[in-house]
Amino acid sequence: MKCDHGYHCTVCGTQVETLEDSWLYLEFVLGRVEVTRLGNTPDHHLRCDPALAQYVVDPEFAPPVVDDHPATDKRRREAAEVAEQERLVTRAWRRLQEVQGKGMAIEEYVLPEIRMAKLLGED
Ligand SMILES: [Zn+2]
Repeated sequence: MKCDHGYHCTVCGTQVETLEDSWLYLEFVLGRVEVTRLGNTPDHHLRCDPALAQYVVDPEFAPPVVDDHPATDKRRREAAEVAEQERLVTRAWRRLQEVQGKGMAIEEYVLPEIRMAKLLGED
């Protein structure tokens, strides 16, 4: 499916064509970008953001991304923290594929447990 926003990547300059390539939508699914910001936030490819993309661990996400930056390289981080990030970011990346073509409201793209946590937090 073609992405409905069609931004150009702020890193490499080519178009961000699909939802699962989109850093912005991944952050949205993780509850870290508000829906109102989707239309006016510069986007980039997930693969152009190794600090985040290194946490997608899925045979479909091939080849895996390696982050060589000393400040963000997961190989320099604590194993438990890395495992948690991998679980979350990989789940969010799979979510971007699940939601496509389902006719869901955009707010429903956000991971259910994160939506729930936000709802409870707003009480
Ligand atoms: Zn790019």
